[in-house]
Amino acid sequence: MRDLSDDRRWLAVNTATVRAWSLEQVIEGCTRSGISAIAPWRHIIQQCGLARAARLIRDAGFTITCLCRGGTFTAADEAGRRAALDDNRRAIDEAAAIGAGSLILVAGGLPAGSKDLAGAHAQVRDGIAGLLPHARAAGVPLAIEPLHPMTAADRACINTLAHANDLCDELGQGVGVAIDAYHVWWDPDLPRQIARSGARILSYHVCDWLVPTRDLVFDRGMPGDGIIDLQRLRAMVEDAGYGGHCDVEIFSAQNWWKRDPDEVLRICVERHQTVV
Ligand code: ZN
Repeated sequence: MRDLSDDRRWLAVNTATVRAWSLEQVIEGCTRSGISAIAPWRHIIQQCGLARAARLIRDAGFTITCLCRGGTFTAADEAGRRAALDDNRRAIDEAAAIGAGSLILVAGGLPAGSKDLAGAHAQVRDGIAGLLPHARAAGVPLAIEPLHPMTAADRACINTLAHANDLCDELGQGVGVAIDAYHVWWDPDLPRQIARSGARILSYHVCDWLVPTRDLVFDRGMPGDGIIDLQRLRAMVEDAGYGGHCDVEIFSAQNWWKRDPDEVLRICVERHQTVV
């Protein structure tokens, strides 16, 4: 396991963690904090303008670990699924333009009014399969991120790393997994599935699970403030062969989003070096 205690090279900041900042501010703020890798969301790239964003990132010498995010393949009708694929192709083009290491895919939940979970799973599989030729041509790996089961209905019906691994087995080259501590920490099958993921691990996201959790989306904790054994998790991910960044991804409406982003980054660095 890598020693991160005096090392910021493998710390990446998901731009959602410093949500008040534009892309320009994220680059400036990270530079002030000695951080040179980020995982941006599409809207802040689009707000900046794709060509300009690509230039700013290149000029700063930043690494883009992944682009958040594509997916949402499920829809009530064919037109909806086609629109989702079109949007995902644009996301791939954006990821390629900024040199992102992967495009994160969040599956999509049950279509409105549907109770057909198996049908939703099939739509996700077909959606990724439909996207793969474009992703392969663009050289952008697709990272399936399983989300916590509490999101199955409304955001993502791929909820375990086992399910994501099964999809990778089925779909072949060009698709891998994103492991987000918040979404998978609870899974008793996790050690086996991380080992099974091996070289498919494209992205690793950290934050912490707070007890109690007051909001199912917007109450993520800073690493070290909750109950996830992050060092054990990182050891498993690294034993499986992952040697990339640890992306700090915190949605926190009542706490971290209210603080000075420079202070948030300072604490991200400290926790990266001590508990991640
Ligand atoms: Zn994530």
